[in-house]
Amino acid sequence: MNKYNTKKRFFELNLVKHPIKNIDFMLNIKNTNILGIYEYKKYIGFYLKSNTRLTLCKVCNNTIKRNKGYNTIYLNYANINNKIVLVKIKLKKFYCFNCRSTTIEKLIDRNGKNQSTNSIIKAIIDDLKTDSTYTAVSNRS
Ligand SMILES: [Zn+2]
Repeated sequence: MNKYNTKKRFFELNLVKHPIKNIDFMLNIKNTNILGIYEYKKYIGFYLKSNTRLTLCKVCNNTIKRNKGYNTIYLNYANINNKIVLVKIKLKKFYCFNCRSTTIEKLIDRNGKNQSTNSIIKAIIDDLKTDSTYTAVSNRS
């Protein structure tokens, strides 16, 4: 089982059973709607869905608007108040008529390292495929 599955499993098997109504901070991710917030043990979960209308084609740089469904990813977003913030986000896939390729939008920078902050979260931590944070943090808790 890889770490991507670990995060997904934890989110879908544990976090989703513990929805909360309010939380004292908000994620600073543009162009998303919050579909759910969850809290369980040392984890806070956000379920986000993209509401963007267009993106740039990764191949030919055309502006593309044709939505071709969603790609759901799970990632460690930040540590806040000693809690680990897990984000489930539905990113839009766009189809380019010009070069016939599919582009998944990038609402989230994945170039940062793990950050701990008590204020507004600014940077994203890790890509789901290069992540080592989840395991390290779980062992600590
Ligand atoms: Zn294109």
